[in-house]
Amino acid sequence: MTILSDISIKQYNTFGIDVISKYFSPFKNKEELIDLLASDYCKKNKQLILGGGSNVLFTKKFDGIILKNEIKGKEVVNEDKDHIYLKVGAGENWHKFVLYCIQNDFSGVENLSLIPGNVGASPMQNIGAYGVEIKDVFFELEAVHKETGEIVIFDNKSCRFGYRESIFKNKFKNQFVISSVTYKLNKKPSFNTSYGAIEKQLFENGVTELSIKAISDAIIQIRESKLPNPKNIGNAGSFFKNPIISMSLFDQLIGKYPEIANYPLGDNQVKIAAGWLIDKLGWKGKTYGEFGVHKNQALVLVNYGKANGKDIYELSEKIISSVKEHFNIHLEREVNIY
Ligand code: FAD
Ligand code: NAP
Repeated sequence: MTILSDISIKQYNTFGIDVISKYFSPFKNKEELIDLLASDYCKKNKQLILGGGSNVLFTKKFDGIILKNEIKGKEVVNEDKDHIYLKVGAGENWHKFVLYCIQNDFSGVENLSLIPGNVGASPMQNIGAYGVEIKDVFFELEAVHKETGEIVIFDNKSCRFGYRESIFKNKFKNQFVISSVTYKLNKKPSFNTSYGAIEKQLFENGVTELSIKAISDAIIQIRESKLPNPKNIGNAGSFFKNPIISMSLFDQLIGKYPEIANYPLGDNQVKIAAGWLIDKLGWKGKTYGEFGVHKNQALVLVNYGKANGKDIYELSEKIISSVKEHFNIHLEREVNIY
């Protein structure tokens, strides 16, 4: 067991926030994790499980122990006529896993190309992009209970996946460490290109025969052109979730803002693009010294170098208030605040 004390965690969060963690310990397998959880370091301190640190904002010193998940490995655990069941260690990098699937002709995750972070966090908020969510390919996961060390299997239903939500952000928040995820991937692809700019990009790339590789390449190109690379500008992707509002509120808004970006969901609900709301209120591109709102993507708050997390959090508060005041819509943060 390696325990580091009072280290900067700047390199472990994509926002690049320079704060100290009282303790920090990586673990490479379940046994190491169970030993750590039973140690005094965990019994006497609050714990935070960290993957790639791409969905967190640290607003102050972390006065506890960070457990960094480095469990690796990929194994085909089952197969049927149409599917491959691939069990993947929680500490595997997500995008490398997507590329591995593409190389092996396992389809289902190509639309989720280039999402930062690790496999273990993918069920946490049911990661999603370009019309696909992890729940569409999720079979089960294995998790260790933090208090008891018990190993528990969660199937798709018991994860209670929702829009950027799962049971691990709600009822079981902070209770489990996900050690592996098993995905149910397709042997025969069913392509999903209707979302956003995918078809336009495929056309520009001169793609005549569709493949999971062509879709992945197109998505990588779109994402690289739109989103700030955390290696250059600190960020954690979309800071806010797209709000889902009632049809009656939507009817009021559409009268006033006919161009509002909206996606009807059925059940009298409408998803509104949070980026559109924030942009409409003039926040896009606003810079306050070391931090601000990204110039191409209003959903993304950025650290230009030496920002502190508290300033970014306060900016998010101001954005939430202004959206509430003008549109009567409550924006929720997607990023986990510590
Ligand atoms: P971390 O940031 O390390 O952790 C996130 C949360 O999960 C924390 O609360 C942490 O405690 C918990 N956690 C992590 N691992 C475990 C585990 N093994 N067991 C228990 N709890 C755990 N997200 C999307 O959904 N779609 C996108 O398209 C997308 N695009 C992004 C683009 C950019 C440029 C960036 C920076 C982020 C983007 N994100 C996106 C957000 C982020 O990449 C994902 O949410 C990702 O799954 C986070 O993985 P991580 O390993 O970095 O998690
Ligand atoms: P975009 O294509 O400019 O679209 C703006 C918003 O409209 C998106 O947030 C998306 O919602 C929604 N949208 C677009 N087409 C839609 C459709 N056909 N049906 C339903 N909703 C639709 O978005 P973008 O910012 O470039 O991002 C592209 C994709 O990557 C999105 O899925 C987005 O969620 C994902 N992404 C996520 C993060 C993150 O950190 N969570 C960061 C970057 C990109 P949804 O967000 O619900 O898909």
